[in-house]
Amino acid sequence: MSTKCIFCDIRDGIIESEIIFENDSCFVINDIEPKASIHMLVIPKKHVNLITEFSNIDFDIFNDLFKAISSCSKISNINSSGYRVSINQGKNSGQMVDHLHLHLLGGNQLGEMV
Ligand code: AMP
Ligand code: ZN
Repeated sequence: MSTKCIFCDIRDGIIESEIIFENDSCFVINDIEPKASIHMLVIPKKHVNLITEFSNIDFDIFNDLFKAISSCSKISNINSSGYRVSINQGKNSGQMVDHLHLHLLGGNQLGEMV
């Protein structure tokens, strides 16, 4: 049954998406509207959103999130050319999906951070 969260629905196979990489705590998909040649989303399997609302157990997820960043940057060959990892949190950041996710961007020169 749909959860009203796009990323939970992808996790549950309700919305189709190719899972590029997976470990115990997270999975990785290509962004549907890529903002760089490589644009992946590293998504915790557990529905968590705001870092300020994390429990101590939720913070353990970050180990696997950053292991996934390391693996995926190598898989996509952007580890030596460089890449950016970003997290949007809340209205002023422009966050659109209220399920924590890390953007992994690279493959070309990236614009300045704002
Ligand atoms: P954010 O603005 O940080 O919440 O980023 C949400 C990202 O999810 C955006 O870059 C969207 O393009 C991306 N997105 C939304 N729906 C999908 C989907 N079904 N599959 C892959 N990426 C998606
Ligand atoms: Zn969710």
